Amino acid sequence: MPVRHLFVDMNAFFASVEQQDNPHLRGRPVAVIPTDAETTSCIAASYEAKAFGVRTGTPVWEARRLCPGIACVVADHRRYVVMHHRVLDAVGSVLPVDQVRSIDEVSCRLAGADRDPARAADLGRAVKAAILARAGDRMRCSVGAGPNVLLAKVAADMKKPDGLTVLADEDLPGALYGLRLQDFPGVGPRMERRLNLHGVFAARQLCELPLATLCAVWGSRVLGGRWHRLLRGGDEADPPTRRQSVSHSHVLPPELRTDAGACGVLVRLTHKAAARLRRIGYWAGAVSVGVSFRDDGPPEAGARGYRGWDAGCRVPHCQDTPALVRAVARLWAGRPAGVPKKVGMVLSDLKPARCATPSLFPDDRRAAELSRAMDQVNAEFGASVVHLGSMHGYESSAPTRVAFTRIPDFDRRVS
Ligand SMILES: [Mg+2]
Repeated sequence: MPVRHLFVDMNAFFASVEQQDNPHLRGRPVAVIPTDAETTSCIAASYEAKAFGVRTGTPVWEARRLCPGIACVVADHRRYVVMHHRVLDAVGSVLPVDQVRSIDEVSCRLAGADRDPARAADLGRAVKAAILARAGDRMRCSVGAGPNVLLAKVAADMKKPDGLTVLADEDLPGALYGLRLQDFPGVGPRMERRLNLHGVFAARQLCELPLATLCAVWGSRVLGGRWHRLLRGGDEADPPTRRQSVSHSHVLPPELRTDAGACGVLVRLTHKAAARLRRIGYWAGAVSVGVSFRDDGPPEAGARGYRGWDAGCRVPHCQDTPALVRAVARLWAGRPAGVPKKVGMVLSDLKPARCATPSLFPDDRRAAELSRAMDQVNAEFGASVVHLGSMHGYESSAPTRVAFTRIPDFDRRVS
């Protein structure tokens, strides 16, 4: 089994950024906290603080009791995002980044000669050096390499901080036997109890479980089969080919062939497209809108009989309705005058959600949560029960239609 993946996990990421940016915090126990209140819990702890037993989730009052000199610093997510991009650039200078797993974790695929364990270890060292050089000398990471991403992550977790572990053919499965069940990503307290019920208490037993038992434990043939394959050093199947865009357009009924009518329908189409984007698990990085005018529209709007206008812009990758509606509204404001006949919009530069970095800005996160809540309510009660005010009055325009070229993702009830 070749070493196919390299996994990079930044050590105590938020606390390390604080120590990088603030020299007076270096070498000191540091806890990063969400707000300046004793009742909140630490969201990160520096290794100096971990030595006192302070962990992510430790209440601030308890952290102060465990470690009286601890510096509690309020999180500054903007700086963590800046550092995240520096880390990505650093890793990318050594190996192409395959997936951004979280703000502080990325994985890379190894190809050809890079799959040799000694070569993978060299690349791991090069990644560490690049991060220290480009992001800062406090930005340490643990690197793991293995035959699949699961085992590469397990390898990265084996030595912290500043570890480098390669799980090659000859190391498996023996190198896993010393792990606790919850050291395997995806095994939490609930899954550990299920494993216990099947008589599994040690990593060695987990690694040797037959396929049928794994399927029974996970309650799914797909998941059981996946664990059976990954624990034995197999790899995930290649990801499906990427979808290119999500688009919607609608010919306006006569009563909506006005500025306000076209705008309302466009916002409605944006709601549909954003919900579709979330259902299929993608984020969009570009938005465009278009309008066709009635034949007596402005002659300057198009040459040779086509009277239309379109415009596009890039957006920070997102999948929430408010951000996409704002982008559409900005574009729409630049349209020429005319009697609209048809409107449409396209979301493109799509990224699978697993490759996108969730925003750390509270407003963006709230918008994303709001959008998910809207999806849930609309799935339960009908497609447009909940929507943004800008769509009000146009809920039933542009109903979902089944086309031969596209099968809509139906909610439980469809508009
Ligand atoms: Mg980490």
